[in-house]
Amino acid sequence: MFLSRPKLIKKEIFDIAEYVPGKSIEEIASAYGLDPASIIKLGSNENPLGPSSKAVQALVDTAPCANIYPSADAIELREALSKYTGFPVSNLVASGPGMDGLLDGLCRLIIEKGDEVIVPTPTFAYYELPARACGGKPVFVRRNRDFSLCPEKVLEAESPRTKIIFLCSPNNPSGNLLPENDLRKILENTRALVFVDEAYVEFADRNLAGLVREYDNLVVGRTFSKVFGLAGLRLGYGVMPEWLVKEYIRVATPFSVSLPALKAGIAALSDAEHLRKSIEIAREGREYLKGKIPFKVYPSQSNFVLVDVAPLKAKVVTESLMRKGIIVRPCDSFREAGDTFIRVTVGTPEQNEKVVKAFEIVKNEG
Ligand SMILES: *Cc1c(COP(=O)(O)O)cnc(C)c1O
Repeated sequence: MFLSRPKLIKKEIFDIAEYVPGKSIEEIASAYGLDPASIIKLGSNENPLGPSSKAVQALVDTAPCANIYPSADAIELREALSKYTGFPVSNLVASGPGMDGLLDGLCRLIIEKGDEVIVPTPTFAYYELPARACGGKPVFVRRNRDFSLCPEKVLEAESPRTKIIFLCSPNNPSGNLLPENDLRKILENTRALVFVDEAYVEFADRNLAGLVREYDNLVVGRTFSKVFGLAGLRLGYGVMPEWLVKEYIRVATPFSVSLPALKAGIAALSDAEHLRKSIEIAREGREYLKGKIPFKVYPSQSNFVLVDVAPLKAKVVTESLMRKGIIVRPCDSFREAGDTFIRVTVGTPEQNEKVVKAFEIVKNEG
């Protein structure tokens, strides 16, 4: 007998709104009767160049070894990350699935029922999910109109139950960086752990990870999903103080980084040319989109731009672009983002041209 047993589920789980991912090519192809091959996917900030060919070769090479467990602590990958980041392996953890796995692990390590986390909105929607699953309560602090945050407001939101402050730089979906002095101010005046999400940092002029050497309450999250083009592998890592690495290992799922992910991650780090090209295409493309899209486009330090289509509605414009075979991300599922913002991933130059044309048509249709 298979009964549904909702009473078995923890009470706090019912407060969790489902994570809303960007639309897939298959969904749009079937919804609008389009040829999947003709669809341009610019809704999930993926790398338009695909993965490094070295990473692909590593995947092929590891396929016959799929019966073997990877190393439990992903040490080979952490050694490669040590070279890439300049931090010793004692400051590094590798995580699967993705950086999301790191966020999940940290919440399981730190958050208990009744604890609070601070989330400056609008921002990446996932932070509150693992916190809530652990019985934590997100406290939202609104960003300024230009999406910068006010460190004083963040600190004022702190209570004796605050355990983690989630910051994102460059911020998703706005693309702006967190100034180093604002981060220092927060780090120096809080008792909580500060998590800085640097998923897009390679596209930016500056990073904040160096501050892990100075502060024992800072964690920086990184991912292979964006600039390295390995979103499908679900691989991330964290830079954190040694004391926290030691505690984190206690709750991390053993073998969370699969063997193919581990080897492909190492190969991706070794492909400086693919990295350089991926950064270049995003930097050139975001300036092109900013100059050509006939709406307000925010300056970006990332591989996407935020477009304000007011007085039109994001939903209407998104729908119209999707009908033309272009997938973008309306931001109405981001808390406090309103209903006129659309996030557009920078694509190849040809894709960017098509996006601009589509926006022009939508603008003329009014
Ligand atoms: C994509 C993204 C992540 C998730 O990275 P994964 O490694 O794919 O889990 C984390 N934070 C931000 C801001 C992102 O945009």
